[in-house]
Amino acid sequence: MTTSDLSEESRLVATSSSGTNQSGSANPMGMEAGELVAEGVCAWFSGRLVLADVDLHMERQRVTALIGPSGCGKSTFLRILNRMHETINGAELAGSVELNGEDIYSPTQRATTVRRHIGMVFQRPNPFPAMTIEQNVLSGLRFNRIKTSNKNDVVEEALTKAGLWTEVRDRLSNLGGALSGGQQQRLCIARALAVRPSVLLMDEPCSALDPASTLRIEQTISEIREEVTVVIVTHNMQQANRVSDTCAFFLSENGKPGHIVEVGPTTKMFSDPDDPRTLDYVNGRFG
Ligand code: ADP
Ligand code: MG
Repeated sequence: MTTSDLSEESRLVATSSSGTNQSGSANPMGMEAGELVAEGVCAWFSGRLVLADVDLHMERQRVTALIGPSGCGKSTFLRILNRMHETINGAELAGSVELNGEDIYSPTQRATTVRRHIGMVFQRPNPFPAMTIEQNVLSGLRFNRIKTSNKNDVVEEALTKAGLWTEVRDRLSNLGGALSGGQQQRLCIARALAVRPSVLLMDEPCSALDPASTLRIEQTISEIREEVTVVIVTHNMQQANRVSDTCAFFLSENGKPGHIVEVGPTTKMFSDPDDPRTLDYVNGRFG
């Protein structure tokens, strides 16, 4: 298998640096749920400012939902959190992002290492279609050259956490592309979890899935939240309400760059937010 048959985003999130192992790491970013702090984040595409001065604290072992109408910069912000933004032509950024107090944009920090600690799951399930289920789960370890004493345990553990083990345990050598959409997305979650990230970024992970698969993924999120900090973009307000502890409401008004209107505990954001625009948005009155 060559990297040329991998989709670009899969390759970027799976390919990473060498020289670390499962049990310990020279990198202080750590192997447990991490705290992610963004300050003064701005983003440009070809000189156009699309995201202005975003401050957001994504707490350890919490689920933070990013909500807001299309085009307000949620995906851009998410990609800045694991250095995917810099892979886009014409994209620039300002501000800082720290994981457990470490600047992820420090010149000494490799983007590939950052992406290993801060994993990502996309809207469209993107398993490597020509790899088996088992190879998909192990692909991140392989690309990262992470040594593991027992691959079978890693596969079982990651698939169990992703809520897929019982459905695929008897066919681990089947192709990942042969699974249903919901199963493929859980396979992508298993692949992301297998390298033990501190943070998992999810960009509308259920928007291409049916309601039953959606609920299954939400259940997975609530099961993994103790060991990995989750940041999820969703347009589904019921979902934001069900899965998140904290919500950040992004808005881009009248062609102005996206910014955060309000951040708060999810219960407050849905019942008694400070800004009237937040209440209008969560109640479906616009966007
Ligand atoms: P959201 O995820 O909230 O829908 P995005 O982060 O995708 O918003 O987009 C924010 C703004 O940046 C939009 O105006 C969008 O058109 C623009 N944008 C996003 N990606 C690119 C890109 N690759 N090149 C140029 N402009 C982009
Ligand atoms: Mg988006």
